[in-house]
Amino acid sequence: MISFVGAGPGNVDLITIKGRRLLEEADVVIYAGSLVSKEHLEFCKKDCEIHNSASMTLEEVIDVMSEGENKGLKIVRLHTGDPTIYGAIREQMDILDSKGITYEVVPGVSSFTAACSAIKKEFTLPSVSQTVILTRIEGRTPVPKGEDLEELAKHKASMAIFLSVQDIDRVVEKLAKGYGTYETPVAVVYKATWEDEEILLGTLGDIAEKIKDKGINKMAQILVGNFIGGDYERSKLYDPGFSHKFRLSSEEMK
Ligand code: SAH
Repeated sequence: MISFVGAGPGNVDLITIKGRRLLEEADVVIYAGSLVSKEHLEFCKKDCEIHNSASMTLEEVIDVMSEGENKGLKIVRLHTGDPTIYGAIREQMDILDSKGITYEVVPGVSSFTAACSAIKKEFTLPSVSQTVILTRIEGRTPVPKGEDLEELAKHKASMAIFLSVQDIDRVVEKLAKGYGTYETPVAVVYKATWEDEEILLGTLGDIAEKIKDKGINKMAQILVGNFIGGDYERSKLYDPGFSHKFRLSSEEMK
């Protein structure tokens, strides 16, 4: 059995119970060594066979999986955060499909929610934004037409930008054009939930300098939008004057 498992953003306790159990029972683990904490491997059996995919090609990963599968072993493919976001799991699953090998996908805590928790904010505030855009700037991997950061920023939605901190100058320039101001709040969270986590708060006007001062050029979330500061309306869900399926309004109780 092959399980694609989300390891969570860093802290080992942020894997799901299901993911931890699969790791404990695994005969073979292939983990994404550049981003997954090695502490997860301490939960594996002593004789578990461990591969670091950082130095492997897609074909090599698939070979390890199909060999293990032929022997009836339990295989865990451990990805950082949630495997369905920038996990490059689709190409693995498609090859497994073509070989008739079955698998499951176990979700994880993505770094975008971990980063928002680190700054103790909420992406979705009434009257500010009810939409979260997860994206990246184009680099060696292009982004499809219409998904340019400037275009996305025009929505003024809350944004979590992956894989882009190394290009902060271009990111800021595009966002400022889209949002129409350099005053828009930004939080950069480096290694959210790891021991060396760093939080930098600022605006589109000053964040690039702060990041460069700290020397941050990888493994960071760039969170952007007015949800980070400013005003909002309180939630209708907990408003005494607003009823819903599970609670009558104070008027209705009279
Ligand atoms: N599947 C992962 C994302 C993999 S892409 C997830 O759901 O989080 C790798 C990018 O994710 C990094 O470039 C960085 O932008 C972000 N990232 C991963 N772990 C992070 C962490 N602990 N803190 C901040 N950003 C992180």
